[in-house]
Amino acid sequence: MSRKINIAIDGHSSCGKGTLAKNLAKELGYMFIDSGAMYRAVTLYLIQHQITLDEIPKNPSLLLEIDIDFRLDPMIGFYNTYLNGENVESEIRGMQVSKWVSEVSAVKEVRNYLVNKQQKMGEDKGVVMDGRDIGTVVFPDAELKIFMTAEPMVRAKRRYLELKSKDIEADLQEIYENVIHRDRFDSSRENSPLMQAPDAIVLNNTEMTRDEQAKIALTWAKGVILAG
Ligand code: C5P
Repeated sequence: MSRKINIAIDGHSSCGKGTLAKNLAKELGYMFIDSGAMYRAVTLYLIQHQITLDEIPKNPSLLLEIDIDFRLDPMIGFYNTYLNGENVESEIRGMQVSKWVSEVSAVKEVRNYLVNKQQKMGEDKGVVMDGRDIGTVVFPDAELKIFMTAEPMVRAKRRYLELKSKDIEADLQEIYENVIHRDRFDSSRENSPLMQAPDAIVLNNTEMTRDEQAKIALTWAKGVILAG
């Protein structure tokens, strides 16, 4: 049996990290973990309970009330995000959460809480995780690190079409501005800013199809596994 590795996929907002990570996990028989969904679920919880960001450092134990897990939907073959036992997969993708999630993700206590959970999920290897700090903070020893990027308007259009296809309300200009805002905020925050790990391979997919990206990433992964 070939050895198992961890694969870290980081990069800018809405450039297809999740899709690539899901495909890789499926091909390799690995677990896919969407770390952004975890930050989104925390954001949704704070909105639902009207908790402001300044309350978290004063009372970090309130985060312990937030349980997040991923459950397989056998109909689609992919995992849905559950917040305290409730399927929130659609809700966490809407604009209400998207507008707040970068601010919530910059809170040190939130990051510590989620990074700890993410590291536990990767202890036994065989994980493909996508996010912003996976190759730099969560799995600095990941055997394969990919850093994804693409032109902002191309990314906004892809996100727009994805939301529309799921019947989620969407406005292209609003999405474009949100993508730019999140990139800027994520890259300049003090705690675990978005940055390329020195040993990451860059994948600029502005002009690539999903299949092309999937093939390239699978070749890289198999190369690393075999090089063992
Ligand atoms: O990946 P996604 O766009 O769903 O992530 C939503 C937001 O969560 C990002 O814009 C970023 O602010 C935050 N995030 C993060 N660290 C991660 C994953 C996501 O700060 N590892």
